[in-house]
Amino acid sequence: MDWIDWRDQKWRDRADCTGAHPDMFFPPRGASTREAREICGGCMARADCFMFAMTFHQTLGIWGGYSTRERARIKREDRAEATYNMLLRLQPKVELWVS
Ligand code: SF4
Repeated sequence: MDWIDWRDQKWRDRADCTGAHPDMFFPPRGASTREAREICGGCMARADCFMFAMTFHQTLGIWGGYSTRERARIKREDRAEATYNMLLRLQPKVELWVS
């Protein structure tokens, strides 16, 4: 099941990891993922990033604040949609200012 259209990559414009060193989000085996997860925790694109990784079977790195192993467990337990909805509720919202 595809939850998002792969052509819609606008969520990347809201990514807090833009410009971060790739090793932070694709760490060598055994390296800490704490810094990456902290950035993901405040990212306005977190839910879409997570669902992109789930939909397109990203097997490496931190996506939406979840490691490869954690995403595999979520998939096994069929909790991807519930996790996406939870992330949508938790992630900071884009503030729209109308003048
Ligand atoms: S959730 Fe994390 S990995 Fe995904 S776009 Fe945001 S900062 Fe980057």
